Amino acid sequence: MTTVIDPHQVDDDAPTPTDLITLVRQTRAAADQANLDLFHLAIAWAHAHPETPGDQSWKAPRSSSVPADELGERDDRTPGTGDLDEDQWFGLPPIAWNAAAPFATANNMSTSAGRAFIRDSLVIRHRMPRVHAKVSAGKVPIWRAHRIARAVLGTPRDVVERVDKAIAPIADTAGLVTVDRLIDEAKLELYAELVEIESLEALEHRHVTLDERTIGHTGIATMDIRADWADLVDFDQAVSRVADALKRDGSPESLDVRRSMAVGVLADPARALALLNSTEPPAPSKSIVAYLHLDTDALEGRGLLATDEHGHTLLATTVREWLARHDRHVTIRPVLDLRGHCDGDGHDGSDPYVPSHITAEKVRLRNPTCVFPQCTKRSRSCDLDHLIAHATSGVTCECNLAPLCRHHHQLKTHAGWTYQQLTPGTFLWREPHGQTLLVTPHGTRDLTDP
Ligand SMILES: [Zn+2]
Ligand SMILES: [Zn+2]
Repeated sequence: MTTVIDPHQVDDDAPTPTDLITLVRQTRAAADQANLDLFHLAIAWAHAHPETPGDQSWKAPRSSSVPADELGERDDRTPGTGDLDEDQWFGLPPIAWNAAAPFATANNMSTSAGRAFIRDSLVIRHRMPRVHAKVSAGKVPIWRAHRIARAVLGTPRDVVERVDKAIAPIADTAGLVTVDRLIDEAKLELYAELVEIESLEALEHRHVTLDERTIGHTGIATMDIRADWADLVDFDQAVSRVADALKRDGSPESLDVRRSMAVGVLADPARALALLNSTEPPAPSKSIVAYLHLDTDALEGRGLLATDEHGHTLLATTVREWLARHDRHVTIRPVLDLRGHCDGDGHDGSDPYVPSHITAEKVRLRNPTCVFPQCTKRSRSCDLDHLIAHATSGVTCECNLAPLCRHHHQLKTHAGWTYQQLTPGTFLWREPHGQTLLVTPHGTRDLTDP
């Protein structure tokens, strides 16, 4: 018989090491069971919210209820989520466009993470019956099942069937490499000609991506490139040539640093050419915008001094270094005291529908991301939503505007989510099923009454 120990009763010197290991094992088993429950709940939630044929309500922002210009100029190809993930739902029952957000909120996740959790659970439930039986019996942890599910997203039925058969007996131990190999084998056997087409399609997956998440207060970030080998070799050599030229020009930096600086030089082809030919550099073609915060804290060296146009914090040294550069225009925009906010009786200027540049800047700097619970989309790419609609005398002022990304703007307009601004930049959201969430510039807090 196992002795059940209450984790809250553990006294530092009372239990033996064996007791503690028993306790860890019990807690792990309870956590696995809780994750299995969430897996079943995700499936139940999806089944309760099927996509209704002809439901185009996510397209409705184009109707008269919300004027088109409130939505900004981005396209709206994708229903609801803002992710191009249609292919990943191949073979799965489609869910309603607004189904993911309430589940995600209840599960303390972002909407896109919640949608992926539901999708991966549906893959196991609907496409891999043998793995599903093992998962339901508690033999395969959910995180591992979801990794298997992600490996077969979008693959044809007979391939998934074969992988399901092969993987089920080893699903509790198989790593991603094994799963990928099994999928490749099944595809080669069933669709030899498809594999050939796929390798051609791999060419479609070339990309150059700037990873915004890697930028810190130092202003240094990471960029990822996948390209043709020949192109990469050429680019590498161009970087080397510019790095050499920078040294010739007197740069004291190390080779690695000069190679990194060379990317900036190559971004201005006329300057790169001048540098390589040792001729006079042309006028800079690149520009940076820095927003200087001129409140008392910043001026006295205690608070935030500056942000760039993407809302990233800049250190005084970074601003100083930018101002000393000759290869680009630096535009300094003063941001007047953000705390000198409008409390409802000193609205910004007259009241046109589209906010003035200054008002829009203040709102986007106040909330650097979409203000929906857990959303991390940058406010620079968000719509500015009137909390109280302009048509019903809502003012176009920072006290009545908030950045919302496309999907969350649609949820607010068409799916019963409501919110209000408590203090400037702080919002209280109410979800149609009774969840309540507080969003501040520092994150999301769940205030739902248990
Ligand atoms: Zn106002
Ligand atoms: Zn959002």
